[in-house]
Amino acid sequence: MIKKTKIVATVGPSTTEKEILEKMIQEGVNVFRINFSHGCYEDHISAIKKIKEVDKIIGSHTAILADLQGPKIRIGEMPDDGLLLSAGDEFLITTSKNKRTKLSALITYKELPKDVKKGEHILLDDGKIVLKTLKTDNETSITTKVIAGGRLYSRKGVNLPDTVISTSSLTKKDKADLEVAIKNNVDWVGFSFVRNAREIIELRHLITQLGGNAKIIAKIEKPEAVENLEAIIEESDAIMVARGDLGVEVPLEKVPLLQKRIVTHSRQLAKPVIIATQMMESMMNNITPNRAEVNDVANAVMDGADAVMLSGETSIGKHPIEVIKIMTRIIKEVEEKFDPLYIHESIPKKNHERFITDSICFNVCRLAQRVEAKGIVTMTHSGYTAFKISSQRPKSDIFVFSSNKKLLETLSLVWGVSTYYYDKTVSTDHTIADIMHLLKNDGLVNSGDLIINTASIPLKENGKTNMLKLSYIN
Ligand code: PEP
Repeated sequence: MIKKTKIVATVGPSTTEKEILEKMIQEGVNVFRINFSHGCYEDHISAIKKIKEVDKIIGSHTAILADLQGPKIRIGEMPDDGLLLSAGDEFLITTSKNKRTKLSALITYKELPKDVKKGEHILLDDGKIVLKTLKTDNETSITTKVIAGGRLYSRKGVNLPDTVISTSSLTKKDKADLEVAIKNNVDWVGFSFVRNAREIIELRHLITQLGGNAKIIAKIEKPEAVENLEAIIEESDAIMVARGDLGVEVPLEKVPLLQKRIVTHSRQLAKPVIIATQMMESMMNNITPNRAEVNDVANAVMDGADAVMLSGETSIGKHPIEVIKIMTRIIKEVEEKFDPLYIHESIPKKNHERFITDSICFNVCRLAQRVEAKGIVTMTHSGYTAFKISSQRPKSDIFVFSSNKKLLETLSLVWGVSTYYYDKTVSTDHTIADIMHLLKNDGLVNSGDLIINTASIPLKENGKTNMLKLSYIN
């Protein structure tokens, strides 16, 4: 059985060895995430190089996701043993070293005293410490009252759920990181703290200017992004439910239903969706996950996510291979037994420019269900049919063939899709027969299995998918 829900794993100090990366791919990783919030360019480039080498050795098409940090605001240096803040304390946040008092912290974002308003909340260290703004001098310093206290350590993150941030969501650092990512031919770019669809257009423009064609993953983690959700999904190529920051920026009890809403809407628009953060957190140290984590991964699969993501578990965790093995076991168990996961039809719209292709994809999935086809084979140049067929969640395997290597990697994120390189264009009949032969030789299909092929005819014109064929494997 081929695993349908994909696994995104973050690289880091725990995954510097090529052998570990290889084992992780063999155990179920489909996408490696390079987190530009940590590490240096040398490490990132070396990781990309090793992943590509492993792909060559074992014939996999692993996607690479460059995750940009975005306007992550942080506290400056604090004493080594931190600073204890108690409820009721007056606490100063300042951009100026000269203004520091005993109970104060420096902040990296210079515009904050201008952006923040009286009464707005400032959350520190993933929301563990809660401050309320008493006043701002609009230049360097904000006076706050501690609502929920705790010990504050150096470089902890700052979240501003009530504040409208005046600067762009793409920082100077993001633009420099993007250049490195595109130069190294990454497949996906993660856009952190995106707020609206216009910002996605801005990022796409930058990628094109750099000569790249990487696709964009909008990370939903700001209340503004939730407000503009539909337009953001429409404009992006994929979505990430970035539950870490999202659960700080919106009340955390809202995250589970938001996860379901984002997954459903993304799938309806055929945009892959990733569930991220704290999925197997306890496996950073332990050899098995806790029961709630097992349920969380299983529920993400049942929700219909395209992918589940690991962060610290694989980047700095003690068991980067074991965590993949267990995630794969959970995914396969749900996919084998939970039938409501499958077949979510999307009726083609008659006035849509891809009406013919959409109609083929719709009927492929219906037919696959009716005849219990073993596989759906699609030839694609743009990936459109792969996204579209996958979004309807057929139970049959989806085998995607293309001569575009980059596209094969990109599609590794997409639910249910297995990718194969194929560059012969003799004739449609020849290609279909040849591909059936390849799949049979690889043990992916057997004599007597029903297979549905889609293609564009005439084959040589590389046109849009306009044909489907149902046949038995000889
Ligand atoms: C998150 O906040 O859940 C997330 C995935 O973003 P990052 O790990 O980049 O903070």
